[in-house]
Amino acid sequence: MGNGNGKTILTNSAINAFKSCARKYYWRYVREIEAMERPEALLLGTAIHGFLEAHYRQLPYTPPIDLAPKSQAILKGVREYYPILYLDDCDLFEPVAVEKIISGEILNPETGRPAREYSYGGKVDGLVVLKKDVEGSKAGDLLLLEHKTTTKVDENYFDRLQLDSQLRLYVFFLARELGAPIAGCLFNVILKPRLRPRKNESEEEYGHRLRLEMNWPEMYQRRFLRFSDQRLMEIQKELWDAKTLIAKARKENVFTMNSASCFDWHRRCDYFDLCASQDPEAAIKESGLFQHQEAHVELVTGPGEVLVEAAGEPF
Ligand code: SF4
Repeated sequence: MGNGNGKTILTNSAINAFKSCARKYYWRYVREIEAMERPEALLLGTAIHGFLEAHYRQLPYTPPIDLAPKSQAILKGVREYYPILYLDDCDLFEPVAVEKIISGEILNPETGRPAREYSYGGKVDGLVVLKKDVEGSKAGDLLLLEHKTTTKVDENYFDRLQLDSQLRLYVFFLARELGAPIAGCLFNVILKPRLRPRKNESEEEYGHRLRLEMNWPEMYQRRFLRFSDQRLMEIQKELWDAKTLIAKARKENVFTMNSASCFDWHRRCDYFDLCASQDPEAAIKESGLFQHQEAHVELVTGPGEVLVEAAGEPF
């Protein structure tokens, strides 16, 4: 998928796929193939993002019907408790944009010239303007708003965010696109319960426990992050270097397998059956496990991209 200039788009997901395993990048972003079945954790994460999008746009939310009962119960708990816990958000910040697509040229850090065949694209969860001073940021500051769902957080999790390439790229490209500084990021974490069904517990009883678990404030964590100019400078070089490696692989049509990543995150890679097959092309056509899906489908402009008019336009 190219952008308006016909350039190949690099997103964080594409870059991370390439860094994890060049063959994974090949299947998803060159061949544009994906597994028919999406992991339940991904479906739940998408559903919670959908709810938060509707919440900050002040629109009604309809949950997806294809969620497993366990995920439905967790989502229900989030929908009940999040608006109560963060009732004061309207005093803290004003959403300026929700689910905003960003894009920009990838610049050579030495010459300042844009890459001829590649550009950057992404979609941020939100952009907010602060209404009051908070944790090193001032009223009027613009902040990136990002949501994540996960099963475990500790201080290491939050410390690592200072180096997170996705957050730094979002801040960098938002600031460049708006021509205004982005003071940092309001990072919003929703923890998913790790409860297991008890012996002889009905599905309904288990769902009830999951829903109630999401009614604890500990399941919701926030941090205000700031990124130094040095870190934002570095991310431009990191992006250029990643672009150079991907461009070389695509030009030479060599996408090396990294078997160390086949079972990352305790799950089998979606493409394992293709890589392990003697005849991957036949496996694509005949297994019924794969489908064509345009690369970066999340960047297709649609009803999801909404610019919310903020009181007191900040720019
Ligand atoms: S199965 Fe392994 S080698 Fe194949 S794409 Fe996935 S991570 Fe790479």
